[in-house]
Amino acid sequence: MANLTDLQFDQQHIWHPYTSMTQPLPTFKVKRAQGVMIELEDGRQLIDGMSSWWCAIHGYNHPELNQAVTDQLQQMSHIMFGGLTHDPAIQLAKLLLKITPPSLDKIFFADSGSVAVEVALKMAVQYWASLHQPNKTNFITPRSGYHGDTWNAMSVCDPVTGMHQIFGPSLPNRIFVPAPQVGFDQAWNPADIAELEKTLSEQHENVAGLILEPIVQGAGGMRFYHPEYLRQAKLLCEKYNILLIFDEIATGFGRTGKLFAWEWAAVEPDIMCIGKGLTGGYMTLSATLTTQKVANTISQGEAGVFMHGPTFMANPLACAVAVKSTELLLSRDWQANIRRIETQLKFHLPALSSLEHVKDVRILGAIGVVELTFNVDMKTLQQEFVRRGIWIRPFGKLVYVMPPYIISEHELKNLLEHMVEVVKNMVQPA
Ligand code: PMP
Repeated sequence: MANLTDLQFDQQHIWHPYTSMTQPLPTFKVKRAQGVMIELEDGRQLIDGMSSWWCAIHGYNHPELNQAVTDQLQQMSHIMFGGLTHDPAIQLAKLLLKITPPSLDKIFFADSGSVAVEVALKMAVQYWASLHQPNKTNFITPRSGYHGDTWNAMSVCDPVTGMHQIFGPSLPNRIFVPAPQVGFDQAWNPADIAELEKTLSEQHENVAGLILEPIVQGAGGMRFYHPEYLRQAKLLCEKYNILLIFDEIATGFGRTGKLFAWEWAAVEPDIMCIGKGLTGGYMTLSATLTTQKVANTISQGEAGVFMHGPTFMANPLACAVAVKSTELLLSRDWQANIRRIETQLKFHLPALSSLEHVKDVRILGAIGVVELTFNVDMKTLQQEFVRRGIWIRPFGKLVYVMPPYIISEHELKNLLEHMVEVVKNMVQPA
């Protein structure tokens, strides 16, 4: 290890998300982050277009969030949740139950988005087991979804982008239906739900739940679909006795223009997962919420308890900062802010759709997506963005932004002008 620079050490020894250890992509070393700016070790400043993957909704190093963490640190950073409870968890639960669907009444805190999804799936299976329907153990989900990287979360991700073939028969075999095709703003077509209806009518006896990301399919393709799909899905779940599970881990906390995306359709799920923006990006925390009916049924089942209890459940530091982050969001006119960002995205990005190598441009709330006709060369593109002083992390055919809500008009203009130029100058790889 002698004489390696820190970056060489990083490349040779530390795994980054979805990277190779023999041909790692370059990484950039960050010294600090403040507001919407990321400062690299060599002093370069980058405007953040990613909110650290949907999380840092108020930007970085926020004085009020810092204070919430510091205050809680003086009391306790962690305490076990088995047999003990604390103010940060209670306050957070009160707050979250007020802003999530009214029928959700019980909350389970977990460590990360993927774990929240695991918890949701386990709740659904335990619910049916408690009702003496032990065959209802499988899950149905639309293609192009993404729900996390742990085993069962991965099993309900899109089989192609989630590369299910790598894991072979070790992965539970889920039931997939086509991804919704009618876009958010398009005219509804009942054909969009037909395959779900057909599949449920045939297989409902073995299905515990339908899991989906409401309105925005995120990491599985950044697709926005019609709210009517959710309304129809809810009716089908009622008809065929299936629990409806919404994964709002990415869509939550204002990103789509509603506080949570279910509001676009006014459809309440039986179980809902939240995470990411919950702590304003300060640390990892997630929650799975459910109805009194589901919770009571589980509790009256053979096991008598819900079988999950992570070590860092309801971590007080994370809960304290989540309370402050949520209060901060609600105390501002966040909707006007998201509209401002959306208006600017709509001003800059749509012109790209006339380019031959651009397949589609879509915008919803504070999310702007450019879909290309070919996979990007991530290494070259990332370096070009950094050279221009912006931070955008593309994947597959997608170049997209979801900036912190505090981004100023000027910063967003700068970010988008560079993004547009880079996309214009792209050439299809030979
Ligand atoms: N569900 C959705 C919709 C997500 O976008 C993500 C994270 N990209 C997850 C689940 C998993 O969350 P985590 O990475 O915190 O495990």
